[in-house]
Amino acid sequence: MCGIVGYLGKRDAYSTILKGLKRLEYRGYDSAGIALLDQDLRVFKKKGKVADLEQHLNGEKLTGHVGIGHTRWATHGEPNDINAHPHFSPSQKLAIIHNGIIENYDAIRTDLVNKGHKFESETDSEVLIHFIEDIQNHNTSDLEEAVRLALTKVVGAYAIVIISKEDPDMLIAARKGSPLVIGLGKDEFFLASDATPIVEYTNEVVYLNDSEIAVIKGNDLKIKNTEDVHTTPYIQTLDLELETIEKGGYEHFMLKEIYEQPKSISDCMRGRLNAEEGYLVLGGIREYANKLENADRIIIIACGTSWHAGLVAEYFFEEFCRIPVEVEYASEFRYRNPVIKEGDVVIAISQSGETADTLAAIELAKSKGAIIFGVCNVVGSSIARSSHEGAYIHAGPEIGVASTKSFTAQLIVLSMIALGVAHQRGTITEQTYRQMLVEMETIPEKVGKALKLDTQVKYIADLFKDARNFLYLGRGYNFPVALEGALKLKEISYIHAEGYPAAEMKHGPIALIDEEMPVVFIATNDSSYQKVVSNIREVKARKGKVIAVVTEGDSIIPKMAEFVIEVPATHEALMPLVSVIPLQLLSYHIAVMRGCNIDQPRNLAKSVTVE
Ligand code: GLU
Repeated sequence: MCGIVGYLGKRDAYSTILKGLKRLEYRGYDSAGIALLDQDLRVFKKKGKVADLEQHLNGEKLTGHVGIGHTRWATHGEPNDINAHPHFSPSQKLAIIHNGIIENYDAIRTDLVNKGHKFESETDSEVLIHFIEDIQNHNTSDLEEAVRLALTKVVGAYAIVIISKEDPDMLIAARKGSPLVIGLGKDEFFLASDATPIVEYTNEVVYLNDSEIAVIKGNDLKIKNTEDVHTTPYIQTLDLELETIEKGGYEHFMLKEIYEQPKSISDCMRGRLNAEEGYLVLGGIREYANKLENADRIIIIACGTSWHAGLVAEYFFEEFCRIPVEVEYASEFRYRNPVIKEGDVVIAISQSGETADTLAAIELAKSKGAIIFGVCNVVGSSIARSSHEGAYIHAGPEIGVASTKSFTAQLIVLSMIALGVAHQRGTITEQTYRQMLVEMETIPEKVGKALKLDTQVKYIADLFKDARNFLYLGRGYNFPVALEGALKLKEISYIHAEGYPAAEMKHGPIALIDEEMPVVFIATNDSSYQKVVSNIREVKARKGKVIAVVTEGDSIIPKMAEFVIEVPATHEALMPLVSVIPLQLLSYHIAVMRGCNIDQPRNLAKSVTVE
C-alpha cells in the first residue's frame, strides 16, 4: 500500500507529482506529502487526502523541477502530519518516501538512538533515511553507495525514492517486494508505484526488479542490484490508455467498473475461446499445461475477493476435472507448515499481482517444488513475474478499492483453465465441453442484462440502507457469491454483513434472524435450488426480510420473498458471474445513500503490499 511518485525533468515538479498522487490515491489515503528541491529541499505534508494537502499548500510558492510525493496507508504510527512522508534525514539534506515495511527497523532504530539520533515520527521509513545518512557519515560519503549498503542490512519490503539537497539533478530509487516503475520521457524521468501517473507523459517504462537500485542523474538512468552488479535497463512499452484510468462520466470508479463487466469479460475471452470451433487456448499456460492436467492436487492461494473467486474455481475444477482442490488464504498458508508434494500445482490469484501475503506464499510453495500459475490483472506485476506460468485477466485498471470487474474476470479465466484441463484429461464429454464454451460466450450479454436491474436494486437499497446487519446465504457455486456480496457491503457501506452457506444457517446464524434482519439469498435455479427454497422458508418463519436473487421466470420464490431480483439463466457453474452483479450494485447504492466514500473506503487500500 502507499503510492509513491518522483519527478526529475523540466516540468513543474509540484503539479506533476500532485497529479500522480491523485492517480495513486487508491493505494492509501490517510496522509500525503511532497518534497521539492529548488534552492532548498522543502517537505510539505498533511494528514488526510491529497486534496487536503493541495488545499493546505494553496498560496505557497512551490517551485522546482525535482521532487517526490507520497500518499500513505499507515503501518507504523497513526496517520498524522508528522508520520506522513516524506521524511528528512537528521541533517535535512536527504528526504525519503517509502512504500512497505522495514521489519528490523526497531533494532536499527535502537542502534541509531544509542548513537544520538532523534526521531520525529514513529515510522520505520524515517529510520531508514537516518540509517542511510549515518552510513554516509561514517562509511562512505557516496550517497549511492550508502543506500546500497543500507539496503543490504534491511529486512522487509520497500519501494523507496530518495532526494538529496546536495545532488539537485539526482533521484535514487530502489525496490524489494513493493512495486516501482520508471517512466522515461525526453530529458525527464517519472517514478511511481504503478504506471497510471506516467501514462500521459510517456509509454516507455522500466519496471524495477526486486533488490534493484535505480540512479537517475541528469539524463542518465543506471540500474544495479544491492550486490553492486550493474544491469542494462530493460525498456518496455506501456499498454495502457489514459481513458481507462479516468471516470468516463460515472460518478465513481466502482460504478464504472461494475458497468464495464460485459466488456471486461469479453476482453478476457477474446482470442482465447471460440465456441464454434471448439477452441480454447490460454497462451500463458501452454508450457506447463501437462503439470496442471496431471496434478495430484491443486492449491489455490489468494486473499479477499480473489479468495472468493478461488472458492468458485474449487467447485469448477472438482466437478469438471476431478482433481482435488484446496483453497487457502495466502496469509494462513504461509504461516503454517503446509504439506506440498511434487505433483501439486498452486494457482495464485491477485488483482494487483502485488499482494504481499500471496507473493510470500508463492515463494514458500516454490521452495517446496510446486509449479505456480499466476492469475493477475496487472501486467508485469510481481506475482506475474514470480509465477512459472499464468494468465492475465485483462480486466483493465481497477481503481475502486472494492473489487468488481476483477472478480468476474478472474472467474472467467479460472473457468477457461478448468475447462481446458477437463477436456485434456477426458473428464468431461466433448458435448459438455462444447456446451460450456457456447454458454461462456453468452456471459457478457447476460451480465449486461443483469446490469439493467440497477433501478430495481437501487429501490431495494433505499429500503434497507439503514439496516445494521445483513446476512447473505447461498449454496454450491452461489456460496462464494454470498461471501462476496457480504464483503462488498461491509467494505464500502460499513454495515456488518456475513456470508454463509445457506444450510449452515441452522448451526448458528439463524439465531440472529428477526424482523430487522435483511437476508439476501442467492437462490438461482441450480442443483440445490429446492434446498435453498427450504432455507428461505426457515428465514420467513422467523420473520426475516428476504431479498432473493433468482433465475428469470422463477415461480416459487416470488411467493415467499419480499423482493426478488431476476437474473438470466445460465449453467450453474457460470452463475456466479451473473448472480454477483445485483449484489455489487446493492452494496454500491447502499453506500452512496449512506454518504460513504465509495472509491476510497475507510481503513482500506487497494493492492495490499503489506503482510
Ligand atoms: N511503513 C510506512 C509507514 O507506515 C509505509 C507504509 C506503507 O507502505 O503502507 O509510513
